[in-house]
Amino acid sequence: MKKLLKDKTIVFLLPLVIITFLFLYICYNYSMGIYKDIEEKQNNKDIKNFIYALNISTHNTNIKENSYYQEVKKLCENHFDECLIKTTVNSKKLNKERIKIVTYYLNLYLINDLHFFDINNKIILHIKTKSKENIIITSKNSIQIFSSLSIVFLILTIIITNSYQRHILVINDKLEEKVKERTSQISHTIKELEKVNLRLFDLAHTDYLTQIKNRRSFFLHANSLFQNLKKAHKPMSIIMIDIDNFKNFNDTYGHEMGDKVLKLFAKTISNYLSDDAIFGRLGGEEFIIALPYKKIDSTIPIAEDIRKIIENLVIRVPYSELFITASFGVSDSTNAYTIDEIIKSADDMLYDAKSKGKNRVRGRIS
Ligand code: GH3
Ligand code: MG
Ligand code: MG
Repeated sequence: MKKLLKDKTIVFLLPLVIITFLFLYICYNYSMGIYKDIEEKQNNKDIKNFIYALNISTHNTNIKENSYYQEVKKLCENHFDECLIKTTVNSKKLNKERIKIVTYYLNLYLINDLHFFDINNKIILHIKTKSKENIIITSKNSIQIFSSLSIVFLILTIIITNSYQRHILVINDKLEEKVKERTSQISHTIKELEKVNLRLFDLAHTDYLTQIKNRRSFFLHANSLFQNLKKAHKPMSIIMIDIDNFKNFNDTYGHEMGDKVLKLFAKTISNYLSDDAIFGRLGGEEFIIALPYKKIDSTIPIAEDIRKIIENLVIRVPYSELFITASFGVSDSTNAYTIDEIIKSADDMLYDAKSKGKNRVRGRIS
């Protein structure tokens, strides 16, 4: 509604409609006044007043016929624009007071025909009065004005409706454009949000240092993989990896250097692994790999490959080259009901590799 009022067309058209209504109302009232006037005339109120005045004027007077006639005429003309008076001497037929008023129209003028018998003067008065007021024409004019205004109002209403309809169409078009614009904005925002969501998901599931899967993400993916493979009666295996003597490395070359090594270590293994392998950092210098469709026999050679790659990985520092080694524990899903059981078994094997002298691969079926 506020929008409609703000709208220029409405501001312009609303007063126009109000003015038209006001005109019609005034015209209607005026016409009604005219009609009331006609009604009064038809009720012969003026004539009755005239007779009343005539009675008072002639009561207890003894004027001569001629002067009496003049008096009546004068009185009549006070009340009407034109008076035609005929007098007749009393006869036996008319021996009592008689008043007869006939109102009729002649050439659009209102005429009252009055027969009046005056007892005092014993004469019969036949008075015809004529009013100049052209009430018929006035009322006709008023009706014409009313009709014209009605037509004007009708035309105005049609114009207003039409222009308003066109205006609404324009507003509708603009609204549709806005809706389209907003929709595209919303879909753009949704896409952006999806990207942010993905980014947040990545942040929540990615290890900040090595950019591989963090512990939570690894367990989510590996567990779902395990469930699917179990349903399909397919094997999977786990490789647990722990960098050897890393505390010592950190102490010797610094924590920052240790971070660089962790990154290089993760990158090297990632490059080696196939796409379907799930690789994650469990924490510290411990890493884990889940390999689908692999039993321990085919996993141990993979772990051995990685061990050799790590062993030969050259870590360049100014004026020197450094080397690291890692220990590996391998297990598979042969007897496992949960992924935790495979991980536990692989961890045991890792412990075994450490205790057997590090830089080696140990494995067993779960
Ligand atoms: P082991 O061969 O028995 O595994 O000995 P280790 O020294 O590797 O194992 P330990 O558990 O005693 O020490 C792990 C070290 O890993 C301790 C810590 O300094 C280092 N470390 C853990 N997280 C980080 C990290 O994010 N950055 C760096 N630079 N070092 C880390
Ligand atoms: Mg460790
Ligand atoms: Mg270690």
